[in-house]
Order: sequence, then C-alpha cells, then structure tokens
Amino acid sequence: MNAQTFPDSARAVIIGGGVIGCSVAYHLTKLGWRDVVLLEQGRLTCGTTWHAAGLVGQLRAHQNMTRLVQYSAQLYQKLEAETGQATGWKQCGSILVARTPERVTLFKRIASAARAQGVACELISLEEAARKYPLMRTDDLLGALWLPDDAKVNPADVTQALAKGARMNGARIFEQTRVTAIQKKNGVATGVATTRGNIKAEIVVNCAGQWAKQVGRMCGATVPLHSAEHMYIVTGRIDGVHPDLPVLRDPDGYIYVKEEVGGLLVGGFEPVAKPWGMDGIPENFEFGMLPDDWDQFQILMENALIRLPALETAEIKTFMNGPESFTPDNNFIMGEAPGLKNFFVAAGFNSIGIASGGGAGRALAEWIVNGEPTLDLWPVDIRRFAPFHDDDKFLKARVSEVLGLHYMMPWPNRELASARPLRTSPLYQRLKGRHALFGSKMGWERPNFFAPSKEEARLDYSWGRQNWFPYAAAEHKATREAVTIADLTSFAKFYLQGRDAEAALQQLCANDVAVPVGQTVYTGLLNARGTYESDLTVARLAADRFLLVTGTAQATRDADWIRRHLGGFEAKLTDVTSSYAVVAVMGPRARDLLSRITRAPVDNAAFPFGAIREIEIAGAKLWASRRTYVGELGWELYVPAGQAGAVYDALMAAGGDLGVRDAGYYAIESLRLEKGYRAWGRELTPDYHPYEAGLSFAVKLDKGEFIGRDALIAAGKTPPARRLLSFIATSPDTPIAHGGELILRNGEPAGEVTSAAYGHSVGGIVALGYVATGGARIDDAWLAARFEIDIAGERVKVAGSLRAPYDPGGAKMKA
Ligand SMILES: Cc1cc2nc3c(=O)[nH]c(=O)nc-3n(C[C@H](O)[C@H](O)[C@H](O)COP(=O)(O)OP(=O)(O)OC[C@H]3O[C@@H](n4cnc5c(N)ncnc54)[C@H](O)[C@@H]3O)c2cc1C
Repeated sequence: MNAQTFPDSARAVIIGGGVIGCSVAYHLTKLGWRDVVLLEQGRLTCGTTWHAAGLVGQLRAHQNMTRLVQYSAQLYQKLEAETGQATGWKQCGSILVARTPERVTLFKRIASAARAQGVACELISLEEAARKYPLMRTDDLLGALWLPDDAKVNPADVTQALAKGARMNGARIFEQTRVTAIQKKNGVATGVATTRGNIKAEIVVNCAGQWAKQVGRMCGATVPLHSAEHMYIVTGRIDGVHPDLPVLRDPDGYIYVKEEVGGLLVGGFEPVAKPWGMDGIPENFEFGMLPDDWDQFQILMENALIRLPALETAEIKTFMNGPESFTPDNNFIMGEAPGLKNFFVAAGFNSIGIASGGGAGRALAEWIVNGEPTLDLWPVDIRRFAPFHDDDKFLKARVSEVLGLHYMMPWPNRELASARPLRTSPLYQRLKGRHALFGSKMGWERPNFFAPSKEEARLDYSWGRQNWFPYAAAEHKATREAVTIADLTSFAKFYLQGRDAEAALQQLCANDVAVPVGQTVYTGLLNARGTYESDLTVARLAADRFLLVTGTAQATRDADWIRRHLGGFEAKLTDVTSSYAVVAVMGPRARDLLSRITRAPVDNAAFPFGAIREIEIAGAKLWASRRTYVGELGWELYVPAGQAGAVYDALMAAGGDLGVRDAGYYAIESLRLEKGYRAWGRELTPDYHPYEAGLSFAVKLDKGEFIGRDALIAAGKTPPARRLLSFIATSPDTPIAHGGELILRNGEPAGEVTSAAYGHSVGGIVALGYVATGGARIDDAWLAARFEIDIAGERVKVAGSLRAPYDPGGAKMKA
C-alpha cells in the first residue's frame, strides 16, 4: 500500500506521537508487527515531549522500573547508529546532595538498594562533589551521592529517532490526524474514528499523554491522570558550565539542574503543585506553553540561588512552563484496560516519560504481542485503579500532592494526605473514636494502629522506630497471647457462581479447589509461565457457589484475570466487596471469645482449621472462616455490611476479661512476617513461581490441567535459581529494615529484601527476601553461610532459613 494513503484498517493503531507512542510503535515493529499506524493530532512531539528537560535518572524504587530505564539508556545510545537520527545522548552522571541527616540516611539506603538492583552508585565526599561540580555551594551540605551512568538526552530527537526506526520497519505515521472516537463491540476495541476517516484495528493503544484520560473516557476505560504545571528556567552562558557537567539534584531544595547550551536549566518539584486543565485539555494545544508563574517558581528559585550562587548574576533566557500528567500514586499507567479487550494504555508519566520511554514502550509492546506482561509491572499496572479513581475532583486534589513526592523524603509507611477519605468501612467512625490512625489502600481507609489518645494517633516519620512502635507492639503481643479484633473490610471479595464454577476455578487455581462445601483453600492464580498473577482464598459455600477473598489492592486485577478465563464456562463473577465487612478475631483466646456470643459450636472438631460456616452473632447471619494471616487461632467474619457495627460491639463487650483489643495493619505485618507468610506484590509477583516462593504445598500437579501447570512441571526438574528465605536479626540495637535492602551471602550481593518489620515476639528484625542459589540445593550447610543485610550502610548479621522465624513448636532461628 502507498505510504501516503490513509488506511481503513491496521493491526495496531497507536494514538499519540509523543515519546511513548513512538516507542510503542518502534517496539511493535521490532517484534515483527508491520501493520502499525500511529496517529498524532498535531505534529510528533508537540504534546509534552518537546519541552522535557531530558534527564535520564536510572535508579527507581522498584527493581523492574529501574530495568525499564536501564533499557531506555541502552536504546538511546544506539538509536543514532540504527536510524541516523541523533538523540543527544550524553552520559554525564548525576550528583545528589543532602542537606539533612535523614537525607544522608536515605542516600545510604539508596546505595544499598542500587547494589541490589545492579546500578552503579556510590556515596562521595563533599570535596569530591565540589570537584565534580565546582559551581555548587557545599558548605551547608551533609552528604552526596554519585550515579555515574545517569545521562541526558534531547527528548524531541529521541522521539524522532524512535519514529524513524518504526517507519524503517514498516510503521506508518499520520500527523494532523485526531482520534475522535474508539469503536468497540462486545467488550472488545475494534478501531478508531478520526478526523480523516475510520480505521478498523485489532489493537488500539492510548498513548495520548495528558489527553489519555479524555481518550479513555471515549470508550469507558479508566485512565486516572490530571495535568499539573511543571516549570524550569534556562539561563544564558555561565563561566564554568560545560556539556560534561553532571546533572545535579538537590531534593531538600526541590531542584534539579542540567547544563543547556553553556547555561543552566533549573527545574524542580515544588511541594504543593499547581493543577492545570480542570475543564479538559484543549485539542489544539500544539507545542503549547503556559504563562510564566514566578510566584509558583519562587521556592525553586530561592533554593537554586542557595545551591548555585552564580545564578545571582545569570541572565534568564527562558521560562518554560508546560503541563505534564500525574497519576494518583505518582506511577505511570500501563496495560490492557480491564473490561475492554484489545484497548491498551501507556500514559501518565509523572515527569519521567523520557527516562522510562524506551523501556515502557518495549514492555507494552511485549504485553500486546504476548497477551500478558513478560515481567512484573504491578507498580504501573492499569489494574491497580478502579472506576472511582476517574473523578476530576479527586484527581485535582491528589496531583497537587504527588508532583512534590519526587523529591520529598520517601519515608517508610509514608501515607498520602490529599483526597481522603474516599472509601470507608462501616466500622470507620467507631475505630476513629478508638484513636485509629488510618492508612489508605485502593481508596479504603484502613487502621494501621490504635493510639492511646487522639493526639497520639499520628505518624511521625523517621528511619528508626517510629512513634507507633509501642502501640503496634502491644497489639502484636495481644494477638499472640490473648485476642484482637481487626477490621479487614477492604479485602476484595467475589462470588463465583454457576454450574461450571468448580471447573473454572480448577483451571485458574494451582491448588485443588474441588473440596466439600464448607471448606476453604489457599491458592495461587498463575499465568502460563507458572508465575503469580494473584494469591487468594477460595471458600466453597455451595456446590455451585464460591466466595473468593483477595487482597485490597488486587480487586480490579483479579476480577479482570478471572473474567478473562471464564470463556466456555457457565460461571459468573460478581464483586461483593462492599456488601460484606470483614472482622477478624485473632489470637489464642479467639475461641473463648466467639463461643460467648454465638450458639454455633466453635470447638476444633466442629469447626476445624480451614472450615467456613454460617453462624449468627448479634442477630447477624455471617460467614465465619477459620483462617488468619497472623499464624494464630482465629476467624475472619464476613458480616453483612449493615450489621458490622453490632458484631464488632458484641465482640468487644464480651471480651473485656480476655484482654480483647483492636489491632491494625502494622501489627498484622509484623505478625505475618514472623510466621513467614508471603504477600502479593512483594513476595508473590509475576516474576516468581511457587517453588521459588516456597509454596509448593499449594500446588497440586496431579489434580489435572490448570494454567501454569506445564511451566511448573518444567521448573520442578531443577532446583530453583532463586529462593525466598526468612531472615532474623536479634541484636537489640539492629536498625530497622523496611524492604529493598541488599542481602549478602558470604560477603557477596545475593538478593533483595522484599518485606521487613520488627517482630515483637522474636525481639528482632524479621524479613523475607529472594536469594540467588546458583541452582544449589538449600540444606543446612548452604544456610549456614554468613548472611548479612545492608541497612543504610550497616551490614547486619542475620540468620537465613526456609522456616518461619516464629515457630514456638519448632527449632529456633538465631542470628
Ligand atoms: C517541564 C517538563 C520537564 C520534564 N523533564 C523531564 C525529564 O527531564 N525527564 C523525563 O524523563 N521526563 C521529563 N518530563 C516528562 C516528559 O516530558 C513526559 O513524561 C513525556 O513527554 C510524556 O510523553 P507522552 O508520549 O506520554 O505524552 P505527549 O508527549 O504529550 O504525547 C501525547 C501525544 O498524543 C497526542 N494526542 C492526544 N490526543 C490525541 C487524539 N485524540 N488523537 C491523536 N493524537 C492525540 C498529543 O497531541 C500528543 O502529541 C518533563 C515534563 C515537563 C512538562
């Protein structure tokens, strides 16, 4: 077909000619798709891409996000040789500086995480920092970090190079062509309507940048993002500024600085951002800029003048104010929209779209071609959101806060403050009255701990023991020694009903769920690679009805995964999350407590572990499931939402002499880690299979066919190359670990901590983390090696084990 002819069909239509759309087009063609069409309403790069600063900082909070940027870096270096189009790539390195002791601790933690992730990074002296950046004032600084592989590029050139590479491999790009509607049929995207005609397509990809929310709304897909103004200035030439000058970041002053044509480009992330585009983004905002706003820029300018005195006399040549889109959690949005097959999204890049563009484009192209991601992309997965996130008021309030997070201290347990509460449990007001401090997950307010007074119900952030340490300790101990009540209402809950419900679940689950009515089963949902898509509890309520209970954050994701695999089965999935509150009764006195308020027998013979029964408490007929996530006797009560208060009150009234008290999520975290229980998103992800995770007990290869079975049979033939271990450090002055720390075995980097907490029953740090095994069989001799965890530069001796740290009946772990 003539390249100039406007097509009426294509295999893939990509909406948006910024760095992301061009990268997706480039990578689809690299994967062998030729019939790829990219549509841009203006000209390539004319949205946000053209005015980006071009920083490519490699280290990210999540290992796979770092991998995406590392791949971008490799790609941008070689694109010129491949396409003849330069990218402006310059590996100049970057320096981060610290003004506070807490930031220095963060740098030490970053250096440890960088080693775990394979990124070059070292703490350098202030003298060394001054040598590398002579214009910088250092007398008020406390530390510096050096990342030699960081770089800068020209964003427009990178995009043009990607577009050229895509064209060279067959893609067709049409500028001045606006998509006006998305066509769909029976829940499947089938094409687009444009200002130049309709195009039928197998796949439609929304890479429309800050317009992506509007494009999503054309077809009912949730793409929750909102624009905020983002600014930098560029000076005239300054003596001593040259192209090899590293990028400088001074996060305590909210600023970044980069060389630009012999002058300095100074930008930043102010703590309170300025949302933009409340009435929608204009269609004709081609190469658009917003008015200068020196008031908003003032905090950045003041800090820049502190760090770089030479700016005092520099000429300001440009004030660049351009909008960029930000998301509710400051991570970008990728994947196939739940509920609309073949409609993919890559948008909302929170000011790191250039750095992430190469890797994100490849990851999305692989997702499209393979039908599922090839690595764990959960932090950016579109399925972490639900339709309620697509609310303009919520988004506007939230982006005011998230832009500043780039340089804000990433404290452990940091909670966002804006746009809350969104969703509350029926117990919310009661628990608030009992001084609960709430965190938020998937919009739900969830008690993290209970303080002795209203004033103490707050989070004082620090790297060490935070203010709530004694409160969570008391909740933890009460759970091990007496009984506690926890509000777990935010759990996602589904009914799967129908003649084929069992058969559908047998296909989806790695464990055997063909159990008698009244029994529950813990199982993984695996993909064809045999790695985790989810882990959940399946409860059989009737021959043709199951209750599925899964993590708070996984509601959209799990529903999407399950529905995708119901084809051919007579079974229907219904989300009943809001219909039931979940009240957990946990601890050795749980049976005593329950027996006082229900006529139903709760002794071990009548109500064994893993059973689920309908019982009555305080007039409420509810499902009681004998399971806990803390390794103690206990029940989860699935209570009709309207009666949750009555059940909670009955438990509290009956348990006074048993020592009953509330428990929050921080106590649950330390309790579960002492028992070595795995959590979705941390230990269980699409990067790991059950044998690596040590969960082979929940895999039944002999039950018949299920998704992932063949991969597991193959994986089971050799010892896994990585294995999840529990760790414990019992020295009383051990610093607190929070996850992400480097694990060393015999002095060599061996893995990364996935979760960590202070275990109050064992009296020390308890952690989980994957360790490279080199294919060795894990036995006592292998585990007797010297294990250490690097906590902010301090190598802490730990014991590693396949067993749980807290196992009163078993052998003790000792560091
Ligand atoms: C001041 C500033 C500095 C920045 N600095 C950096 C940096 O140093 N490093 C970094 O990594 N990132 C940086 N960024 C962020 C980066 O620019 C963005 O993340 C990135 O450009 C986003 O690319 P995109 O392709 O998603 O969006 P865009 O570049 O906006 O592309 C989307 C395209 O879709 C088109 N479109 C929209 N709707 C339609 C439709 N209906 N039909 C057809 N076409 C449509 C638009 O016209 C637009 O061209 C910066 C951003 C700003 C504002």
